[in-house]
Amino acid sequence: MAQTNGTSGTNGTLPALRTNPKAIFFTDFDGTITLQDSNDFMTDNLGFGVELRKKGNHDVLFGKRTFRDSFQEMMDSVKTPYDQCIATLLKNVHLDPHFAEFFAWTRENNVPVVVLSGGMQPIIRALLAHLVGEEAVQHMQIVSNDVEARPGKSINDEDGWNIKFHDDSDFGHDKSLEIRPYAALPERPILFYAGDGVSDLSAAKETDLLFAKAGRDLVTYCENEKVPFVTFNDFSDIHKIVADVVEGKITVKEAARGRL
Ligand SMILES: [Mg+2]
Repeated sequence: MAQTNGTSGTNGTLPALRTNPKAIFFTDFDGTITLQDSNDFMTDNLGFGVELRKKGNHDVLFGKRTFRDSFQEMMDSVKTPYDQCIATLLKNVHLDPHFAEFFAWTRENNVPVVVLSGGMQPIIRALLAHLVGEEAVQHMQIVSNDVEARPGKSINDEDGWNIKFHDDSDFGHDKSLEIRPYAALPERPILFYAGDGVSDLSAAKETDLLFAKAGRDLVTYCENEKVPFVTFNDFSDIHKIVADVVEGKITVKEAARGRL
């Protein structure tokens, strides 16, 4: 693996098991914890625009090209210095209105939250610190892609930065890599995943219960691939179901009701 930002590595320690939790909540970041996808926002407003971006997403969803290629092309179309990208995103990207409440509940109830993102680490950290608070971010494991300077440039120069992928997979960041060691444990916590789009396809089949954002691409994928899931509109829906499962009121099977 070229990059292992925050991943468990090969030493056998799985970070989310440290507190011996009953459940682990894996989640996408862009468009799931946030209302707007920061990479889509940059592409639509600073890069080649919404039409080409949507065509790229569609091609990935229907297996015509890889997420990695499509995403590289999206990011290459953004020439804006990185610090200006972050400043623009801080003004335009908002948090799911019920995420902070859910996150507080997970901390009180020993349910580790692991962010698995196709986005770039500095942007995710800046947005989370701004939206949820610096202290909260320290309690989240974030596994994502990263950013690097182009040869002879700084990331804050015009056309100065490039996306640095997490691993060598066609996904750029294969989210199943982080989940599988937990799924393979003989006795293990309940595993949840929440996501919204094409960056989540690598994670979709790995957990016990998948939350897919209503009306988004991940729902289409789950239906086509027969992956059990339940839709959510915002984190209040997720909060209720996760709490009910953790408290033993319903099973993950009962919760996987598809489109609601
Ligand atoms: Mg997303």
